[in-house]
Amino acid sequence: MIFNWGEKSKKVCDASIYNCSNCNHLAPFEIRTDEKTAGMFFISMAKWGKKYYLVCQNCSAGFPVLEDKVEETLRIFTEAPSHNLSAEIYKELKDVLVNGNYFSSEEKLSKYPEEVMLILKEKGYKEKDIKYITPIALKEFFRHLDKTKSE
Ligand SMILES: [Zn+2]
Repeated sequence: MIFNWGEKSKKVCDASIYNCSNCNHLAPFEIRTDEKTAGMFFISMAKWGKKYYLVCQNCSAGFPVLEDKVEETLRIFTEAPSHNLSAEIYKELKDVLVNGNYFSSEEKLSKYPEEVMLILKEKGYKEKDIKYITPIALKEFFRHLDKTKSE
């Protein structure tokens, strides 16, 4: 993990929102390349290409992107919803989940992804953006649920 990204790295693109395993927050992420490392280890970098990291904007923790996954990762994130849109959709999902009483039974919860898709589509959100945020949101909701149970 690398901190203090400011001077030695370059932002490539935003990477939507994620559950950060370092600070335990649902935080906006971005993709950065480590320019200084590229200079310091010129020979190995020339051989292996640039290093890319997923960086948490809340705690600055950097998670290296596997070399053979760089292209795929960049493609996914350039198509991902922006930070603002991600946060907005997340809030809508949370509202539907809480107000719709989806935690009352497993059967009800299993209908959640389809029903929430219809509700959010009616509100004008794009299917691909809703699909992108739904698993992240569900993971976050369950994490809070587990925390509440164990406390
Ligand atoms: Zn973090």
